[in-house]
Amino acid sequence: MRRRQFLKTLTGMGAALAAGAGAAGATIRSGGPRVGVVGGGIVGASIAWRLAEAGAEVMQFERTAPAAGATRNSFAWLNAFVDDRHYQALRLASIAVWRELDQPLGLGITWGGYLNWAHDAAEAEAVRANAAQMAGTAYPVRYLASAEFAGFGPAIEPGPVAAAIYSALDGHIDPVHATLQFLAQARLRSARFQCPVEVQRLEMRAGRLRAVHTSSGVVPLDRLVIAAGVDAPALLAMAGFRLRLRHSPGFLAHSTPAPLEVRTVCDAPGGLSFKQMADGALVGTDSPEPPDLPVHAAIRAGAVDFPDPAIRAMHGNRVLDKIRVFLPHARAATLDRVTLGFRPMPTDGLPIVGHVPGAPDVYVAVTHSGMTLAPILGLHVRAELLYAREVAALAPYRPGRFSQQPS
Ligand SMILES: Cc1cc2nc3c(=O)[nH]c(=O)nc-3n(C[C@H](O)[C@H](O)[C@H](O)COP(=O)(O)OP(=O)(O)OC[C@H]3O[C@@H](n4cnc5c(N)ncnc54)[C@H](O)[C@@H]3O)c2cc1C
Repeated sequence: MRRRQFLKTLTGMGAALAAGAGAAGATIRSGGPRVGVVGGGIVGASIAWRLAEAGAEVMQFERTAPAAGATRNSFAWLNAFVDDRHYQALRLASIAVWRELDQPLGLGITWGGYLNWAHDAAEAEAVRANAAQMAGTAYPVRYLASAEFAGFGPAIEPGPVAAAIYSALDGHIDPVHATLQFLAQARLRSARFQCPVEVQRLEMRAGRLRAVHTSSGVVPLDRLVIAAGVDAPALLAMAGFRLRLRHSPGFLAHSTPAPLEVRTVCDAPGGLSFKQMADGALVGTDSPEPPDLPVHAAIRAGAVDFPDPAIRAMHGNRVLDKIRVFLPHARAATLDRVTLGFRPMPTDGLPIVGHVPGAPDVYVAVTHSGMTLAPILGLHVRAELLYAREVAALAPYRPGRFSQQPS
């Protein structure tokens, strides 16, 4: 499905979620503090749900459509492959919450684990380095002998195996479906989803938040959570906080459905990553971090639809051809679409979560591992924002570490 078509469909869903919610300036049910959430991606959806669950009067603002940002373009591998132990623990905790939510919310997460293998000595080094990150942790990563490989990826024809590892804990998810499920949970608890509504200005007095000015009116609020992905810096600037964020691009090829054979997330030789969705569609990339090109700014702003058909076909078919080398059953699948998304990438690669320095009523949650972290962020942000608890698990990720950023 083309990008504009897809967004149109999602905008329709946004309208459905917003139905009955009233105008942006309307009074919400009385009770807890009035909390605004900017962003209808997976992070904003998780936070809005948890705040509403605890009794806050939640008003969520989404400029385009639910999951319209990084979320819909995500590979959505739920994993903890990082060597920072503290960060790994946060990700493991979030994966545990995904497991709890899976059935009750009908998320359909594929818990097939993760396979990483290499053809040659150089790639084998990278596989070993990947495994080394998990050494001594609770993460169950193990080396596979060639003969064992078939037990974990029976449909895969791996070719020569110089090194292989398997992790049982990982899963992958449909990011749009998960976001819509979280938004539905928020709505069940009376959160208001305003879409398409853009937050354009924060009204602050003596450092305290009074209201947000949106494209559909002024909304008085007690607190605001910025979960706006790559647009977080623009919103933080409205609160007087300067943040630099990289926009790490990433493209994915999506196929038409093939027979469902593969449940693992695969990092294969040649820098190829792929997974198979529950409907059989293959999703993959051979270039997880392509260069940031000038045209990307226009794409992020929604002014240009990229890639154009010829470039789309070229990149998409190249990735599918590579997947077919390892997955013979995928030969019948054809290219459905190519997506290009932008990870909100903090300059030190770690999440940014917490009260904004100088603006205590404004809170930010931005991360490039948002699919993995969304459930735990929802719970932790609720604890900090509504129960005034300082969550130790978030201590290393405070926005204040960027207070002295050079321009
Ligand atoms: C190619 C790719 C692969 C990825 N793979 C993984 C992976 O395997 N595992 C993983 O954990 N993560 C992965 N990620 C990252 C993950 O998808 C993101 O971290 C996550 O989706 C961020 O969610 P979010 O809700 O913070 O931001 P977004 O999904 O970007 O949502 C932000 C929303 O805010 C809205 N907005 C912005 N400004 C305003 C405003 N002023 N007013 C109202 N609304 C506004 C936008 O329209 C947007 O919908 C990947 C990302 C990409 C692009």
